[in-house]
Formats: sequence, C-alpha cells, structure tokens
Amino acid sequence: MGVLNVGIIGGGQLGSLLCEAAKKIGINTVVYSDDIDSPAKFFTKEFIHGNYADEEKILNFCSKVNFVTYEFENIPFKTLNNIKKLKKVSPDPEILKIVQNRLLEKEFLNKINLKTTLFKEINSKKDLFDNSNLLPGFLKTCRFGYDGKGQYFINNISEIEELDIKFENKYILEKKVNLKKEVSVIISRYGKNEYSLYDPIENFHKDQILRTSIIPAEISQKNKEDALNFARLISEKLKYIGTMCVEFFIDSSDNLYINEIAPRVHNSGHLTLNSYNVSQFENHIRAVCGKEKIELKKLNNSKMINLIGDDILLYRSKKFNKNEFFYDYKKKVIKPKRKMGHFTKVIL
Ligand code: ADP
Ligand code: MG
Repeated sequence: MGVLNVGIIGGGQLGSLLCEAAKKIGINTVVYSDDIDSPAKFFTKEFIHGNYADEEKILNFCSKVNFVTYEFENIPFKTLNNIKKLKKVSPDPEILKIVQNRLLEKEFLNKINLKTTLFKEINSKKDLFDNSNLLPGFLKTCRFGYDGKGQYFINNISEIEELDIKFENKYILEKKVNLKKEVSVIISRYGKNEYSLYDPIENFHKDQILRTSIIPAEISQKNKEDALNFARLISEKLKYIGTMCVEFFIDSSDNLYINEIAPRVHNSGHLTLNSYNVSQFENHIRAVCGKEKIELKKLNNSKMINLIGDDILLYRSKKFNKNEFFYDYKKKVIKPKRKMGHFTKVIL
C-alpha cells in the first residue's frame, strides 16, 4: 500500500494538531469543514470546504481517503453513517450518538455502574419545579454544548420563573457538585484490551472554559486508580477506537463522579505533546489508521495554559526557553472567549 490518507471532519485546532501528528508519521490528511476560514487549512495536505450535509462533497472527500475520523462532536449522525458505508469511521458513529447527548451519555454511564452527578431530563418549567430537589444545579442543553455554552446555573426555585428558555431542545438538570477538583483521563484504544492510558490530568476552569491543565493531577491514589479504571471500562464497553477523554469531578468529600466523555482528542491532553513519547494526537491517528501501538512512556511533568482572546498577542512576540512550547492556532480573528493557542511548560 502507498501512502495512507486520513480524512478529518472538522477544521479547528484539534484538527490542526491531528494533521501535524499524521505528518510526523508519514500519513497524509484531508480536512473537511464547513468553515472556509478553518485554521486546519494551514496544517493539512488538502482542505475541502463544504456543508456537512452536502452528500456530493462528502462523497468526493471519501474518495480521497482510506480512513475517516472527526475532531468535534456535532456532526450530523446521518453524515457519519453515510460515510461509514464507504470507509472505516473511528470512533464509530453509534458511539457519537450516545456521547453527543448528555442524557443518553449519563444513562449509559449509570447502566455500567459508574457514578455521575444526579440529573433529570427537563422539557418544561414544570419539570424544573418538579425537580427542584436538584437545585442548586446546572440546566444544560442535551446537545450542542461546549465551553459552558447552552448552560444556565439555577440557584433556587425563585430563579426558575425568571428563566428565558423556550425548551425547543431537550435539557437536563444536573445537581451542582461541591467541586474540589476537576481531572481528566485521556485514553487511546486500538482494540480489545489494547490501549495507551495517560495519567490523570488536573484541570482549572474560568467562566466554564478550561484555562490550565497540569500533569500529574494531585489526587488520592484511590481516585487515581478509579479514574484510570473507569476510563478503561468506558472505552472497552464502547468498543472505542482512537483517543477519548473522560472528565471527572471530585467533590469536597473526595467522591469521584464522571462529568462527561469527549469522543475525540481533548484540550486537557495538549500537554501530552510534550510530556509523553507519543501524544494523544499521534495515538489517535495511529489507532484510526490501524497502525501499531507504541509503548507509552512519560517523559516529564508539565503545565499547559490556554491562550484565550488577546492572550495570544503577548505570546506571539515572546522568546521561549528550551522547556517551553508555544502553539499558535493561526485563527483569522481574535475573539474574547476564543481559544487562540496554548503554551506548555515542561517541568524538568
Ligand atoms: P461543556 O460541554 O461545556 O464542557 P461541562 O458539563 O463539562 O460542559 O461543564 C463545563 C464546566 O462547568 C465544568 O468543567 C465545571 O467546571 C462546571 N460544571 C458543570 N456541571 C457542573 C456540576 N454539576 N457541578 C459543578 N460544576 C459543574
Ligand atoms: Mg466539559
């Protein structure tokens, strides 16, 4: 077989970093995105601009690649299923169907005996009043949320009346956890009981957007083992192929809950580029292209900072030490809450 081509749907920074990882191991990339200004344009071998429902363009995209993967969650299920008839798509679209919906995701987790926050499906204000035992809590859209978008924090019953929501989409209400820490586990699964598992990473958010990630997470040995085991169990149950992230909450009594699953490479795993011999991106490309797994070795601890909005300007003119790594996503426009790049400092 000649050079492999991997198709990536979605053209954001995760796509760009997947392209770089593919290039490193001699695999060509074709990125398909509905955004003409996708930053991944600057990193991929080939770029196709098209709507995710444009069957003809999707067909053309498929004809150019051997394998297909995706870098964000909100791709129409139908599109992925059509692609699946032609090319191997990883992770399988059926998995996306579960995890792109907060309700199905939590039901799946509870079914395999993993603890999530307490939640209820909500379709009206009446449902909110009926489930006020879950307050204070977060009302979240079941689908299409990220970086805290589509979320409303509700303190008490008196705030329900004031909510300006039409309930056109499905929602869930989640009881607020008294957060001590947030951690994530990145796992890349190649097949049955064959995976690379990264140590838990500790995450710090501001305004519900990830700001800083640190490896190793400072958590108890028990929570560390549980978090790793749960990530492994989830990936096995889903028969997952590629890299995924499991986000956890730890409350003030040290209880561990699963917050959500991201069926893709994840922002908190960016530091794996500098802390491990194989990054989450390279592992993802290897797994979805059926390449062999390389034994994972940790090289260094590190800290990653997201550069949001104007933060990027300072870094573009900065000088860096040998243990400092700056990634510019090359986005066309700087916007206040937009992730523009990241910076990782390896602790030697
Ligand atoms: P997103 O899909 O936007 O990442 P999350 O459900 O992960 O949505 O919520 C984003 C952040 O909001 C979390 O990382 C956490 O900091 C906070 N948050 C969300 N749900 C809860 C909860 N039930 N209790 C406490 N904090 C929460
Ligand atoms: Mg999250």
